[in-house]
Amino acid sequence: MSRLTRREMLGHAARGAALVGMGGVTAYLTVKAHDTYAWEIDPNKCINSQLGALGVEICDACATDCVLPLSAVRAVNHYPECGRCYICPAYFEIKSAVGPDGLPSEKLCPRDAIERKAIGWIDPDDPANNFYEYVIDESLCNGCGRCVMACKEPAGLGSIRLEVRHDVCLDCNRCSISTACPEDAYERREPAA
Ligand code: SF4
Ligand code: SF4
Ligand code: SF4
Repeated sequence: MSRLTRREMLGHAARGAALVGMGGVTAYLTVKAHDTYAWEIDPNKCINSQLGALGVEICDACATDCVLPLSAVRAVNHYPECGRCYICPAYFEIKSAVGPDGLPSEKLCPRDAIERKAIGWIDPDDPANNFYEYVIDESLCNGCGRCVMACKEPAGLGSIRLEVRHDVCLDCNRCSISTACPEDAYERREPAA
């Protein structure tokens, strides 16, 4: 059996210590990798998107209670669920007077954050025959929830929801919106994929 020199023994010891150290780092990273919890909104609990919550007052706490000047919460339109309606109740103030084009004359969003455009093949003779895309400009939206409340049955399909944008959220230990939320909809959990 060969005998280790002092230099070799020190080399083994150093590598062992490094491996133990790496194991520690790996364990730490593993803990961090699992520590992916972030503030999220449960759309089934948020009063603005909750199905069946009709004729109730809009909750704007997501817009008013974030510590950031422009809330980390934004409205997001999930396009596969959007009906691409001709008269979208989240885009138009449907109670406003009808203009010469037959459409409501006012928009719902107080920040003019929603863009409307006809998509696909366009029927020049009948605009009601076309599909429309509604795109939310996240640099303008403050998460006030008005469009979310409006895009709900029976007028809408519930494709717009409020979501926390994790690239701007400070991930406060005690989120002030979660404290203010009347529906307990603001929770710390793994972000949806
Ligand atoms: S949440 Fe408010 S600010 Fe944002 S798009 Fe909807 S209505 Fe506009
Ligand atoms: S964690 Fe902080 S930054 Fe993020 S939404 Fe809540 S209050 Fe705003
Ligand atoms: S505070 Fe709660 S109920 Fe109000 S808009 Fe935000 S998630 Fe919805």
